[in-house]
Amino acid sequence: MLTTPDFTEITANADVRKTRHGNRAKCLQRLIRLDLPVPQTAALSFDTVRAIADGRMPDLEALVGLFGENTLLSVRSSSETPDWGGPGTILNIGMSDNVAEHLSETHGPDVANAAYTAFIRTYAVEVHRLDADAFEGPITPRLAKDAYESEMDEPFPQDSATQLAEVLRAMARAWEGTTARLLRQAQGAPADAGLGLVVQKMALGPARGVSGAGVVQFVSSETGEAQVTGRYLPRGQGRQALTEGAAQYIETDDRGPALEDAAPEVVQALRDAAALMRTRLREEMQTEFTLMDGELFILDAVRAPRSARAEVAIAVALAEDKVIPREEALTRIPPFTLNGLLHRQISADAERDVLTSGVPAAPGAASGRIAFTAATAQAMAAQGEPCILVRRETSPEDIRGMHAAQAILTERGGATSHAAVIARGLGLPCVAGATRLQLDMRKKTLTVPGRKVFHEGDVITIDGTLGEVLAGRTEMVEPALGGAFATLMDWSDEARDIGIRANADTPEDAAMAQRFGVDGIGLCRTEHMFFDANRMTVMREMIFAENAPDRQAALDRLLPMQRADFIELFKLMKGQTVTIRLFDPPLHEFLPTDREGIRALADALDLPVSRVASRVESLQEYNPMLGLRGVRLGVTIPEIYEMQARAIFEATIKVTKKGAPIEPEIMIPLVSAKKEVELVKARVDAIAAEVAAKSGQDFTYRLGVMVETPRAALRAGEIAESSAFLSFGTNDLTQMTYGLSRDDAGRFMSAYVQQGVFAEDPFREMDIDGVGELLLLGAERGRAVRPDLTLALCGEHGGHPDAIAFCRKAGFNYVSVSPFRVPVAKLAAAQISIKDKALPEDADPSL
Ligand code: PEP
Ligand code: MG
Repeated sequence: MLTTPDFTEITANADVRKTRHGNRAKCLQRLIRLDLPVPQTAALSFDTVRAIADGRMPDLEALVGLFGENTLLSVRSSSETPDWGGPGTILNIGMSDNVAEHLSETHGPDVANAAYTAFIRTYAVEVHRLDADAFEGPITPRLAKDAYESEMDEPFPQDSATQLAEVLRAMARAWEGTTARLLRQAQGAPADAGLGLVVQKMALGPARGVSGAGVVQFVSSETGEAQVTGRYLPRGQGRQALTEGAAQYIETDDRGPALEDAAPEVVQALRDAAALMRTRLREEMQTEFTLMDGELFILDAVRAPRSARAEVAIAVALAEDKVIPREEALTRIPPFTLNGLLHRQISADAERDVLTSGVPAAPGAASGRIAFTAATAQAMAAQGEPCILVRRETSPEDIRGMHAAQAILTERGGATSHAAVIARGLGLPCVAGATRLQLDMRKKTLTVPGRKVFHEGDVITIDGTLGEVLAGRTEMVEPALGGAFATLMDWSDEARDIGIRANADTPEDAAMAQRFGVDGIGLCRTEHMFFDANRMTVMREMIFAENAPDRQAALDRLLPMQRADFIELFKLMKGQTVTIRLFDPPLHEFLPTDREGIRALADALDLPVSRVASRVESLQEYNPMLGLRGVRLGVTIPEIYEMQARAIFEATIKVTKKGAPIEPEIMIPLVSAKKEVELVKARVDAIAAEVAAKSGQDFTYRLGVMVETPRAALRAGEIAESSAFLSFGTNDLTQMTYGLSRDDAGRFMSAYVQQGVFAEDPFREMDIDGVGELLLLGAERGRAVRPDLTLALCGEHGGHPDAIAFCRKAGFNYVSVSPFRVPVAKLAAAQISIKDKALPEDADPSL
């Protein structure tokens, strides 16, 4: 074993560390410890590579001397974590006239010439950054050397030490380049992340018998199930087998020749090596190997590449086979990976003709025809035609069109805009705030500068995971929710210690939430129950009522509909808690916005158009989101909340009688003052007493407050006096803490994030410093008054691992998230609660 200050020969006992030499070097040492046939290899540490980038070369004579005369070498990068990348591998260092002549004798002139020419080209292009064009085509070593000399004004170097020095220098400098730096930092690498390099003796010998190179793994990268995947290229080198048409299969195959036909014992040795690595390195590995006259060498092994689905399947299978503990399987999977499983996604191999991009507001992908109005979307859906609803922004009136569409695209808005919230709830892909889109709603056209004009009916694809809009239809992969995914969810439930509820407004949402196994519904936004066409009309009658009896008549018609909604929801949730938020949005959201709508409403209500128009106008507000909405409606038009409370209690009695007892929770939105809660509570209590007396049946319920104004957080102590629970609505709370409109911020948010004003869009990732402080204050003040106060977060942030960790630490009882975010939230919660337990030594998920 040779260890110098500059490099370390990798042996079983050498001091090789991931934090000093990188992941690949450490992995190669593990293969050596398993007695796998790894050719002689040396590791250069991060410090050595930094010195090389600064112009201080290691002792090259000693390094080349380690491997002996006339030996070809390869150099591979070895960053601390594979995701951080690194410059590509360079093979055949040491190739010269002499070595080529020797190779010509052993392998024949064709192999020798091709390898020599290829190396000169790689050396010129990758190491000296010469123009690749000069080395294109079937040129000979002679021509390649001439081309090199004419560009470099010096002959192609013939000695290994010079070649190796230049390769090391080029790789060390490539790591310092801006692009490489940005790419790895995007993968979580620290600014000072180091690069290690491994120099390896290349297995090169007589071409007798079975000689060549291949790459193999025994698991499918797509599904994670057992499957031999790989290729072998006779006389090949490196990873050529994966790209050359002449490559063979690994195992005997009807489709063509295979390595197993010629060397069954080699394939068995590869199988054994993979099985050994699986149990001892505790990972499914992809192996790069070479054969020299039938002798097997394992050059490298990396974590087998995998889709989201395969990632879950592999981790679960390793735990089921007791190779790793369950806790480790849970912590190996980044929670957002699950988004790649829950939704249909664009196939990794698909061509992507990207038109423009926006905020990735809801994950998944879908193709369909452009529909510019909700009505068109419904008409297309009625004909079985998949469509994409394209709007400047959406409003509650679009809800049925959204239901009918496969995906949503908006020009305006951000991560918590109406379109984004509804799309996530419905599990539809959504790109919001695609500001480069030019929509002409009158001509019904969509234009992106420099591209053809798209008309209604033209096909586009929405990739809500990446926030991209693509032209035409694109190949998709379907979600996979059974098997390993279901097991992972069960294990997450066992491991987590914070509740996960769903934000669910409709029976479909509730059914989806149940499918993912939630702890209840944490937010049922009741206004979404009124968007049905019949109900909308009655709702409008209620809004237009000019006296109490007329209003009550409309509410009496709405009552049975609401009651039926709650009965269905309670039944679906089978005794689990359902938190119902009383009516929240400004009333004018239920009114028509154009003349045509006003005329239709006047017809329906049998009123003059002018009267309807002036009533609509009188309800307009300059800033509706800060206007007459939430509890302010409850205070000024108490009949609405009274009708909702009655519907909830009557549904409770009905469902309880049928043998599924339930204790509903009623939540008051947009509270800012204690008195608001007291007023609503007094009325709701009175309705409860009335319903109980009338039915002769007792029931209990809990009344709580949605904390979504800064004042409610600050005054949580006195608010908690009349509240059983506080649920923080961080969408509005973020909006009001920043004074930043959740519907408009998308327009300039990217500039703010790019210039570092905000580290992230605060509507996507919770602002722990500001909004978080309000949560802590509110929680502390509320619990000081009422120690058994239930605390929750029900804004969109609840699905983010950082917010879940924050809530758990602050002693919250649960977070409530869109149904499709439940799996991510569960896994994140499980990871957070097992994070403190130390993983067994050598458990290295990044291998
Ligand atoms: C909130 O404000 O955080 C919330 C959950 O309510 P909504 O999004 O319906 O305003
Ligand atoms: Mg809100």
